[in-house]
Amino acid sequence: MLRYAIFDLDDTLYSAEAGVMRRITRLITRYMVERVGLTPEQTKELRPRYWQQYGTTLGGLMQEFGVDPGDYLPYVHNFPVEECLSMDPGLAQALQLLPLEKVIFTNASAAHARRVTAFLGIEDQFRHIFDIAFVDYVSKPDPESFRKVLRTLEVEGKQCMMIDDNPANLRAAAALGMITVHIGPEHSNHGSDFALRSVSQIHDVVPELVARGLLLPDPVAGEFAKGSDSSKKHD
Ligand SMILES: [Mg+2]
Repeated sequence: MLRYAIFDLDDTLYSAEAGVMRRITRLITRYMVERVGLTPEQTKELRPRYWQQYGTTLGGLMQEFGVDPGDYLPYVHNFPVEECLSMDPGLAQALQLLPLEKVIFTNASAAHARRVTAFLGIEDQFRHIFDIAFVDYVSKPDPESFRKVLRTLEVEGKQCMMIDDNPANLRAAAALGMITVHIGPEHSNHGSDFALRSVSQIHDVVPELVARGLLLPDPVAGEFAKGSDSSKKHD
């Protein structure tokens, strides 16, 4: 039976078209030039390798240049994220209707996650934010980062559903037994259990999870309301 829905943050809880990652990417390049002393050409070579090898640019910069994450993270998130994002009126309700405990697991900082979720009006829906400091900067898709989250939640992989835009993260989650949901504009599901264009459609996965015996029938959605205790309804 599922207990937790683990959400990625960037390009998952809001559309990739918002351009937040473009702004962060620009600041990462500027950081590598101004603070680390690399040329723009070197940054272009190093970043794909760092992604491959360490999961994030920060991981590579820490290992190979001794960069301090406490200096790097505020620098790369230092822009008005609110200017990029737009309110998604259906998002808060969609999350509320998903009958699982919700947490965030992001390769960004908790401070950035709090700014984004506060703007979107969903900050009170998540029981916990697991950020890059929590996993000691060894981030998704490293299996140990997922294991640390599972240990903290005191659950097994098969009790969790991971929702992410990055197929590599979903493959790592699936290898630990999690149900996976890819968020993105592509038609391919990248081998995940479900594929949605937007996280605000997350409730669409519920009927199949119920059919697979992974969720109890959902009284809040109304379909299975007969016989349930109506005082527990939220609407
Ligand atoms: Mg993401």
